[in-house]
Amino acid sequence: MAQVSEDAALPTHIDVAGLGEVLLGRWPEARKAARERALDPRLHSNYNLTFEDQRDLTFEQVKVLRDAGTALVGMPEYLGGTNSPGANVSAFEELVLADPSLQIKSGVQWGLFGSAVLNLGSKEHHLEWLPDILNLNTPGVFAMTEIGHGSDVASIGTTATYLPETDEFEIHTPFKAAWKDYLGNAAVHGKAAVVFAQLIVKGVNHGVHCLYVPIRDDNGEFLPGVGGEDDGRKGGLNGVDNGRLHFTNVRVPRFNLLNKYGSVDENGEYSSPIASPGRRFFTMIGTLVQGRVSLDGAATLANQMALSIAVRYAEQRRQFNTDSDIREQTLMDYQQHQRRLIPRIAETYAMIFAHQQLLDKFHEVFSGEDDSDGNRQDLETLAAAFKSMSTWSALDTLQEAREACGGAGSWPRTASRSCVRTWISTRPSRATTPCSCSWSPSVCSPITRTSSRTRTWVSWPATWPTAPRRQASTAPGCAS
Ligand SMILES: Cc1cc2nc3c(=O)[nH]c(=O)nc-3n(C[C@H](O)[C@H](O)[C@H](O)COP(=O)(O)OP(=O)(O)OC[C@H]3O[C@@H](n4cnc5c(N)ncnc54)[C@H](O)[C@@H]3O)c2cc1C
Repeated sequence: MAQVSEDAALPTHIDVAGLGEVLLGRWPEARKAARERALDPRLHSNYNLTFEDQRDLTFEQVKVLRDAGTALVGMPEYLGGTNSPGANVSAFEELVLADPSLQIKSGVQWGLFGSAVLNLGSKEHHLEWLPDILNLNTPGVFAMTEIGHGSDVASIGTTATYLPETDEFEIHTPFKAAWKDYLGNAAVHGKAAVVFAQLIVKGVNHGVHCLYVPIRDDNGEFLPGVGGEDDGRKGGLNGVDNGRLHFTNVRVPRFNLLNKYGSVDENGEYSSPIASPGRRFFTMIGTLVQGRVSLDGAATLANQMALSIAVRYAEQRRQFNTDSDIREQTLMDYQQHQRRLIPRIAETYAMIFAHQQLLDKFHEVFSGEDDSDGNRQDLETLAAAFKSMSTWSALDTLQEAREACGGAGSWPRTASRSCVRTWISTRPSRATTPCSCSWSPSVCSPITRTSSRTRTWVSWPATWPTAPRRQASTAPGCAS
């Protein structure tokens, strides 16, 4: 076998700006605009607020997104949208940079509640409900999970029974395990819900279907037959008002069945374009894959952000003068520190490129570019695999990156917020934006610094500001 010389294998030049553009994927403009938006202080979390005020702030932030027209991008033209699901999800993923609660709250409203109406309903349903969902007149709930069943959605206990005498459905949670739980927007803001229930027509259970159910009046009071509880504080995402809902013989018109995959006519006859109940169920659930795709992207972005901050810190932070009496070493000079960060950088590069393929596939299916059965199945398989792998990776990487920042890793409002801002705002054209994080002054050692080994770290070209080059210097100030 021919030997490739070492020199030939080593790149002599890295097109940093070009690589940065490649990392932005197929919808670079959507990502750049979303990053610019994420710099808006109105969209940032404030951990000093009360629990209730955090929720209200997050709701106000969602209104800022509405005013910017972000929700329309993935919508059909007849609703004023541009029908670009890929661009829509690209921008949505970037919201994690502004505030994770904002991302999830807007994701519940438009990505789950709105998506269910869009993907499970008919054009009549779209015209009836989506305008108010998009403009936030109807904040909504995606009510799938129950106390008794989460992963196994097919076994939920809520029923939607057709009543021929009034041409209505009756929504009912017959026991406490059938109460809907963990639902975003349910505790305070939600006025309507898409409720997943066993559809019973003429005594036959046709399996899980989805219905649009109003739950609160304009004063925020539950409508008759609807009740609920606040899930209260949780480990994170406290800007999202998660809660429980229960229904006691609540009636909705027959029209409210989102009937793309199963409908009931005026004679009370059930019909579906998909004969097999199992296949029908998985097709319906499959239309909601957007949440899994975007979480894969958000986890990948979280890795990029965390590693950028940790690498930047490691490049500037000096601890111990191991090989010189007058020179302290940067953390990145230590091999153990390199081993903590560099494999995770490599993994994250792989995640970025994998996610781009997933997002392309999602766009192909949902824009109609290639909505074949095979492509839908590929999308489902990849989304299931990538979402679990990337969220596991994010848990590991975020923790490692946080620890790699020492004490500074424990104060998100000091070190990392400033770094995040720097990270977002940096473009290839202004790739040396300085960071003003609170640890920057302390990384400037009072000891005269000289250059350490020449080395080029390749991290996040388009987004990570070039670390100050270590040059011979007698001045204590550093580039940051
Ligand atoms: C912050 C937050 C917000 C949420 N928002 C919403 C919302 O808006 N709307 C909504 O409907 N739901 C929402 N959920 C609910 C979420 O979708 C469920 O928690 C999730 O589907 C898991 O269900 P579960 O909690 O019942 O876990 P379980 O099903 O009890 O699973 C517990 C563990 O067992 C594992 N497990 C389960 N079955 C198997 C199996 N067969 N083989 C191997 N392992 C298995 C699971 O992977 C998991 O690790 C939210 C949850 C959270 C935490």
